[in-house]
Amino acid sequence: MAQDTFAAPGSTTRTRVRRIPEKAVQDRGTLHAILDAGLVAHLAVVEDGQPFVVPVGYARDGERVLIHGSSGSRLFRDLATGTPTCFTVTLLDGLVLARSAFESSMNYRGVMVLGRCVELTGQEKDDALRTISDHLLPGRWDDIRPPSRKELAATCVLALPLDEASVKVSAGGPDDAEEDLFRPTWAGHVPLREVAGDPVPASDNRDPLPDYVLGWRQ
Ligand SMILES: Cc1cc2nc3c(=O)[nH]c(=O)nc-3n(C[C@H](O)[C@H](O)[C@H](O)COP(=O)(O)OP(=O)(O)OC[C@H]3O[C@@H](n4cnc5c(N)ncnc54)[C@H](O)[C@@H]3O)c2cc1C
Repeated sequence: MAQDTFAAPGSTTRTRVRRIPEKAVQDRGTLHAILDAGLVAHLAVVEDGQPFVVPVGYARDGERVLIHGSSGSRLFRDLATGTPTCFTVTLLDGLVLARSAFESSMNYRGVMVLGRCVELTGQEKDDALRTISDHLLPGRWDDIRPPSRKELAATCVLALPLDEASVKVSAGGPDDAEEDLFRPTWAGHVPLREVAGDPVPASDNRDPLPDYVLGWRQ
């Protein structure tokens, strides 16, 4: 489906950014870019009034996100029935060091998606598992043994549409109060980024390091 057939991020009552609304981003391209840059999401469900938030790997597939987990997991069993959820991805970009505690903060790119998941089956399920693998480590799926029927049965794959989402982005340096500007305190921001370390072979590994692992996130 074309991108412009979907609502702009933050355009529903539930997703309109009210707190510091100038940090809200309405552009779906930014929504996609943040989801494509992240590796870990947090998924929430409320059970008997108690919220549970679980970190998961994910991938964006067009106008939906895909997640997978154990068919036996409480979270996945619940989500597969269409229980409402909240899905967030946070990319931490830096620490903002203001001259006061109150103005000190973080730089980030954040996405929040509200909605209900649908369970994928058959070919769609197989394709989704490849998509998730390709997002986390491109090239890996073609190198590994595909899941057996038993493993597929033990895996639940869900899709969450991106039709009710919000995007909030915080960037740049501190915004100190006028009266703090002459304090003898360093002010600025410290960028943070995620980098891959050197790959460590398994003790029973006999194979050369593939380029797609060596080049990942470099
Ligand atoms: C790494 C990081 C650290 C943060 N640290 C703090 C902190 O210490 N204290 C603090 O008060 N806030 C912090 N925030 C901001 C926080 O996420 C909220 O935006 C803020 O607390 C306002 O929440 P609210 O529910 O009152 O916002 P509202 O503006 O009332 O929320 C309305 C709607 O806006 C959208 N929205 C709100 N926040 C976000 C978001 N972050 N990403 C995407 N959509 C959003 C949602 O759809 C939400 O339903 C941090 C954010 C990030 C990403």
